[in-house]
Amino acid sequence: MARCVEMCETCVAGLETLDDRLRRLYGVPRRRREDPLDALVATILSQNTNDANSGRAFRALKEAFPDWDAVRHADAAALEAALRPGGLARVKARRIQKLLGALADRGGLTLDSLRPLSVEEAEAELLRFDGVGLKTARCVLLFALGKPAFPIDTHIERVLKRMGVLPEGVSTEQAHRLATDAVPEGRHLSLHLNLIAHGRQVCHARRPDCPRCGLRDLCCFYARTQGSERPS
Ligand code: SF4
Repeated sequence: MARCVEMCETCVAGLETLDDRLRRLYGVPRRRREDPLDALVATILSQNTNDANSGRAFRALKEAFPDWDAVRHADAAALEAALRPGGLARVKARRIQKLLGALADRGGLTLDSLRPLSVEEAEAELLRFDGVGLKTARCVLLFALGKPAFPIDTHIERVLKRMGVLPEGVSTEQAHRLATDAVPEGRHLSLHLNLIAHGRQVCHARRPDCPRCGLRDLCCFYARTQGSERPS
């Protein structure tokens, strides 16, 4: 079992090595250019569903309404109907209209004011919206604003805990805090996307496919289950 109680220097330095290895396995991802408000709504729609369903809901939303102001003033039933492919349509419809209302109260249906802010400032602004947690906020910062933020989803948390990079007992919120200073510059996007790919394709929640994993020599879980020492 990993004995860390915080991210140690070895683990932090190891993130660069881990990213290099993941890039060899899964490639070097490129950032998609997205409007930050589109990205925030899309991320809200992705909560508790898969990428295909949330993508369908987002496209349906864009087809049904000409702009965010129309979504803001939409009849609840019409909005829920558009969001139905993504699940939890009622909750998400309310959340999106509340978000748009809050933005309108602050002066406009845009998140462009976040662009010049530091990561910490922009994250704090996003966390002020109801229903926006650390993962959602950091997805917007990383994907739409190109800032060095590291969102941690269930796959990333599982893989990093098994590998011994994250202490096993930490909460998702603590994991986000630990990752804030730990991810090396220029590695946030590729580490995020490639760890998700690894969690989906190899390091499954129930039965990690260790025999075909290209990260075995870096992994505490593997060392432990094979009776070896913690990898250096
Ligand atoms: Fe996951 Fe096993 Fe690979 Fe470790 S060796 S990262 S537990 S699949």
